[in-house]
Amino acid sequence: MSTKVYHNLIGGEWLPSRSGKTFQNINPADNSDVVGEFPASNAADVDLAVAAAKKAFASWRLVPAPKRAEILYRTGELLKERKEEYARQMTREMGKVLSETRGDVQEAIDEAFYVAGEGRRLFGKTTPSELQNKFAMSVRMPLGVVGLITPWNFPMAIPSWKLFPALVAGNTCVIKPAEDTPLSTYNLVQTLIDAGLPPGVVNIVAGFGPDAGAPIVEHPGVRAISFTGSSEIGSLVAQRAAANFKPVSLEMGGKNAQIVMEDANLDLALDGALWGAFGTTGQRCTATSRILVQKGIADKFIGQLVERAQKLKVGNGLEAGIDVGPQVNAQQIETSTKYAEIALKEGAKLLTGGEALTAGALANGTFFAPTVFAGVSAKMRIAREEVFGPVVSVIEFDTFEQAIEVANSIDYGLSTALYTRDVNRAFTAMRDLEAGITYINAPTIGAEVHLPFGGVKQTGNGHREGSEALDFYTTWKAVYVDYSDKLQRAQIDNAE
Ligand code: ADP
Repeated sequence: MSTKVYHNLIGGEWLPSRSGKTFQNINPADNSDVVGEFPASNAADVDLAVAAAKKAFASWRLVPAPKRAEILYRTGELLKERKEEYARQMTREMGKVLSETRGDVQEAIDEAFYVAGEGRRLFGKTTPSELQNKFAMSVRMPLGVVGLITPWNFPMAIPSWKLFPALVAGNTCVIKPAEDTPLSTYNLVQTLIDAGLPPGVVNIVAGFGPDAGAPIVEHPGVRAISFTGSSEIGSLVAQRAAANFKPVSLEMGGKNAQIVMEDANLDLALDGALWGAFGTTGQRCTATSRILVQKGIADKFIGQLVERAQKLKVGNGLEAGIDVGPQVNAQQIETSTKYAEIALKEGAKLLTGGEALTAGALANGTFFAPTVFAGVSAKMRIAREEVFGPVVSVIEFDTFEQAIEVANSIDYGLSTALYTRDVNRAFTAMRDLEAGITYINAPTIGAEVHLPFGGVKQTGNGHREGSEALDFYTTWKAVYVDYSDKLQRAQIDNAE
């Protein structure tokens, strides 16, 4: 079977990259399976995409927001029909198991319906003027062309978190999907087009970060950048964008802790730990990578955690009965392997896993065994640095106060979880955990689209997606209407 070839989407036309270069999208469960061939774009393609988006902005910004929202609503309806097909394609390009890719498409559906409602809100404020016969109000305005750079771990959900609020607000977009998972962005944007999105309103430029992402960040015609990815690249993006004062929304790493108190429902805490640590093969920015367990229950908890981790079935996410899919590529396997070695050198105890899995049917893919380290101290690199793989560290503590201190002792601040039956401690943790998200008696993963999503410290730069995304994709305009028919001077004519 010949490989399907995909082009960039520019001004409503599907165009190959100007250089003619392409790259392959490979199935991580079976590296001999090429999902598709995509354009390896560079600055010349970005120039065309930005020009098309700029042209489309002139008319898109004038489409009433409720009408823009109707397109998003129809997108949600179409995604519902296509959910199974798109989920299967996503598992093939990204690896996570089918139930999770269905969830990923579902998140885009939820986002479509949630943001569609915003089309009839986009509220501003009215406020009394200090002068007579003068009306004052604030209105949300679109920014213009926005650049969206997305990662591979939520190949449809994260693009939808960025595209939909940007669009309902009246912006036009240039999106560069992650090089490992461009197909799901294509599917999402094709659905927007089928729902009636006019040409040029969304443009796709596929390719690698330095070649296709950096020119979007630097382009003078792009008014704002929304980026999700590593802290290393996020810092680069922010510095480059700062050169021309471009607003940047960054959503980056995590080193998320689940705290388990002695009074917790142990089975529930175990279910949460396994799902949080090994769901999406540990490749979520909210993944549980540290489990803080109170000493009295540590042996029992760790014993059961290891037993259950060993029972998880690793394999091709399209097959029934598989719990954990592959890591997205060989580089991620290298990172997990490197951190397993670092942890051992630091004196952590490897209880299970710690290596790539290559036996039998797994030989053609990039699989890593669910891994548990115990005897970890808060100072070790394995307890501080993001692995982004199925690797979890258990740290033991004596008191609740110590647990909070250890949980907060890292550079990141995305998600946290506390398992306890003590309501006083639950509320104390909600107040004291330094993170953008805190769960009580639920795992660190599982954010919903209508709440703020993002983190503190080195996880982000203060912006939030989800419920607060419009704050990034709009700018405020103050409008004064004087109906007094005379010159009125604020701070002068009405002064005491
Ligand atoms: P991950 O570890 O999830 O791959 P990255 O930060 O490397 O995270 O990538 C996230 C996104 O940023 C991807 O779409 C990638 O292509 C893009 N990217 C990588 N390098 C750059 C860069 N120098 N400028 C802009 N975007 C980049």
